[in-house]
Amino acid sequence: MTIKGECNCGTVCFELNTSVEDVFICHCSICRRSTGGTGIAVTIVSNDNFVWLGGSKFVKTWCKPNHDWQTSFCSICGSAVPGKNDDDNLYVPVSLLCSGTENLKVSHHLFVSSKASWETIAGDGKQHSGAFGE
Ligand SMILES: [Zn+2]
Ligand SMILES: [Zn+2]
Repeated sequence: MTIKGECNCGTVCFELNTSVEDVFICHCSICRRSTGGTGIAVTIVSNDNFVWLGGSKFVKTWCKPNHDWQTSFCSICGSAVPGKNDDDNLYVPVSLLCSGTENLKVSHHLFVSSKASWETIAGDGKQHSGAFGE
């Protein structure tokens, strides 16, 4: 299975050579400030199943000082783009995907204790007060 994804301006584009199912939504205050919304929704893919098709030199990464949080984004349009999750995996913002989204479901809500006061979390995704596993 091949799934393509791209940023809003189309400069940064990539391909996943796997199917994706699990969506993780992070509701932490840093992701909320970064997106301006309720947080960010991502799926996780292994480095082996990910290929940049174009625009990788336009990907900028910002690390929050004194923190392990980082974000990668298109330096032209500002869309969040895939970035390093750990040594073996990337996180991929799911709204960038152009196809292959029919089996996606929210399986985990992270940092629910930091969610916006005005947000009501719905659905049957598992809610974690902090990081995955907490
Ligand atoms: Zn862009
Ligand atoms: Zn977060």
